[in-house]
Amino acid sequence: MIETEIETRPVEKVRDTYKQNGMPASSRARPRVVIVGAGFGGLAAARELANADVDVLMINRTNYHGFWPLLYQVATAGLEPESIAYPVRAILRRYRNASFLLAEVSGVDFEQRTVLTDVGSVSYDYLVLAAGSTTNFFGNDRFAQYTLGMKDLDEAQRLRNHILYCFERAASEQDAARRAALLTFAVVGGGPTGVELAGAFVELIRHVMRKDYPMLDVHQAHVVLVEATDRVLAMFPESLQRAALDRLRRMGVDVRLNAPVADVRPGALAFKDGTELAAETVVWAAGVRASPLAEALGVTLGRGARVKIEPTLTLPGHPDVFVIGDMAYLEGYRPDVPYPMVAPVAIQMGEQAARNIIARTRRNPMKPFRYFDKGQMATIGRSAAVLDAFGIQLTGWPAWVGWLFVHLMELVGFRNRALVLLNWAYSYFTYDRGVRLIFGIGADEQVKVRTLNVERANVERANVER
Ligand SMILES: Cc1cc2nc3c(=O)[nH]c(=O)nc-3n(C[C@H](O)[C@H](O)[C@H](O)COP(=O)(O)OP(=O)(O)OC[C@H]3O[C@@H](n4cnc5c(N)ncnc54)[C@H](O)[C@@H]3O)c2cc1C
Repeated sequence: MIETEIETRPVEKVRDTYKQNGMPASSRARPRVVIVGAGFGGLAAARELANADVDVLMINRTNYHGFWPLLYQVATAGLEPESIAYPVRAILRRYRNASFLLAEVSGVDFEQRTVLTDVGSVSYDYLVLAAGSTTNFFGNDRFAQYTLGMKDLDEAQRLRNHILYCFERAASEQDAARRAALLTFAVVGGGPTGVELAGAFVELIRHVMRKDYPMLDVHQAHVVLVEATDRVLAMFPESLQRAALDRLRRMGVDVRLNAPVADVRPGALAFKDGTELAAETVVWAAGVRASPLAEALGVTLGRGARVKIEPTLTLPGHPDVFVIGDMAYLEGYRPDVPYPMVAPVAIQMGEQAARNIIARTRRNPMKPFRYFDKGQMATIGRSAAVLDAFGIQLTGWPAWVGWLFVHLMELVGFRNRALVLLNWAYSYFTYDRGVRLIFGIGADEQVKVRTLNVERANVERANVER
């Protein structure tokens, strides 16, 4: 077996961590599986390895697992951040062979079989890379600079603070055009995240902000969903796409199809046809790409900077290195179409990678990944959703109940389920939202950002005039 001494910086600190968790360091008799990422894929792999004759070390840059499908509810003041996150250690303590290291992984030395982290290097016998994805700005720095993302808890909290702040500013703004821009909420990208967020914005404005800001005419508030193609929810069957579009428009969302974005400026969105939209809030939900770790590996990448892998989920030429979930590019979902970046794919890949690791430890052949498609769903506000599963297509209330049930059951931890259920019931019966505080991440940034934006806008205007 390979020597798996842990090199650390400082050495004692990380070694102590391992001892605290009963993890033998250099004296291990069993192979070590290092899992990078405590998301859907990484946790599924750890769970599948729980009774295997291996030691599992999970590395994650945060100490929690995030349930991203409910992130938009954190951003729209429906849920507290902590109700959709769960401590990794609390999950792993059920597994006697698993341990956790809080660290950011920056690369892998495949020759030395070592993972490079900000607290030192960790050697592995088997490696599962499951670091997920990040927002894709398609190389445009201005999109990244002037839009708000929604990929993790920090971003969702920043967005929530920004929205609440816009209402506060609008309440005291005398200039009608400025007030309109403060009350315009644009979401770029008509995929499930964009659709869910646009629906949630409307509900927040219609049911909550209307009562909180009686001095504002909330009819001035404008939710715009911008999509470059001619449809929303492109992955869904056409009938459900139409149902979703119809529902959004009936709710009052200004859905702009065939509207590719040319540029984003402070406080404005410019379209390719030359028109502009003044909006203080622009959320970028138009694309995802693999975690930057994929590029740092120096291996062949596919579309979306995802790592090209074998059907056994291994890296070509490295049968002990598995890449799964959003980071992985594997065709086979449909002919020439890669598996989508969704939670069920990540979970099933995690389970298959773990089974293949067990097979290798027993010198058995590995099996290719086979996906069991359980369908897809998206919610479009209160009592409305679209659901496409096992040949059944549902819309409206039945789809919404299905959506609520699945998301509640998939959440990790009884406490989180109870918190979410309580919040949902409260919102459903009172038409209110409990979490409308401007605090935490991004709260004190708002004033600075605003000043900066105005300064940048002035500089840009001066440049144009010159
Ligand atoms: C807003 C939003 C809504 C979504 N809605 C749905 C939905 O309704 N249904 C659905 O099926 N899917 C949905 N998805 C997609 C789904 O969440 C992903 O496909 C899934 O999380 C992928 O799992 P993963 O394990 O590959 O990555 P993740 O679950 O993202 O986990 C990656 C983990 O790696 C960690 N990490 C990243 N980089 C490093 C590093 N360098 N070092 C250490 N740790 C690192 C991260 O902190 C994270 O814990 C949504 C995603 C988002 C963002």
